[in-house]
Amino acid sequence: MKPRSLLYSTPAGLYCPQGDFHVDPLRPVARAIITHGHADHARAGHGAVLATAPTLAIMQARYGENFASETQALAYGTPITHRGVEITLHPAGHILGSAQACVRMNGCRIVVSGDYKRRPDPTCTPFEPVACDVFVSEATFGLPVFRHPNDHAEIAKLLRSVAQFPSRTHLVGAYALGKAQRIICLLRASGYDKTIYVHGALQKLNALYESFGVSLGPLAPATTDSKNHFEGAIVIAPPSAIADRWARRFADPVTAFASGWMGVRARAKQRGIELPLVISDHADWDELTTTIAEVNPGELWVTHGEEDGLLRWASLEGISARALSLIGYSDEGESEQSAPA
Ligand SMILES: [Zn+2]
Repeated sequence: MKPRSLLYSTPAGLYCPQGDFHVDPLRPVARAIITHGHADHARAGHGAVLATAPTLAIMQARYGENFASETQALAYGTPITHRGVEITLHPAGHILGSAQACVRMNGCRIVVSGDYKRRPDPTCTPFEPVACDVFVSEATFGLPVFRHPNDHAEIAKLLRSVAQFPSRTHLVGAYALGKAQRIICLLRASGYDKTIYVHGALQKLNALYESFGVSLGPLAPATTDSKNHFEGAIVIAPPSAIADRWARRFADPVTAFASGWMGVRARAKQRGIELPLVISDHADWDELTTTIAEVNPGELWVTHGEEDGLLRWASLEGISARALSLIGYSDEGESEQSAPA
């Protein structure tokens, strides 16, 4: 069986005709496999949705009880067969519940990795390489210039700044799903045991992570009154909030932003970020290339991002590769959610 007849791109996203389902569809469809809960991959309004239990819980928390007409939770590594197509989910190491979707029929196996990374992350199960005929990868950081530093070293920068400026509030911008909880866990792993204050938009997801066994330590809402201006505290908020009126309530804030893009100086400058933290939930160049070499697929399909860099590398390595150029996935996890104060 030719891989291209088992899975191909359509305007609604990657489609499997034999199983009549899409993977991470970009518009409402009858049947969807969802790799993870970020808004650009997990949309509301599908008929039947198959995903891990945490991903379904995230979708329910964000979109409400009726985000799909039917849902089915599938644990990592447990195969199910739908219309002759075997489907398994495998950890992707991106955020809580994130999965690679493996579809298999007549001996042909395609792995759609969704978004992934290879560094240890206490908030999710590590990426698991799965042998396949086709590996479908993103390429957000698919150029050799993108090499993310050690995440513990980035957190150490934040803690040094907190020690250096004890009367200022450290306001850390982090995406509400995944990044915020990872930053909190990294702070805890570095021995920071004080209360961490969080923006209202993070509270539901923090509670959801804790319900799946990710402990975040003492947290409190970042609600100011005339007495508390959070001198010396760490406050975590969605990126949109740190540039907003909301941020003005804090004591002479040091603004930080945790993103893979903070490795690009111009981006940090453009956002007026005083303390850029290069922490990404996406594979950097080395993680992309070592993963593809390790999976050693017959073919590589690249969904979006810096496709040219990765395609060129693949051709030099003798790996047959092509770009799917799917439009609709954003460049770091998700576009910013509108955030209530
Ligand atoms: Zn993502």
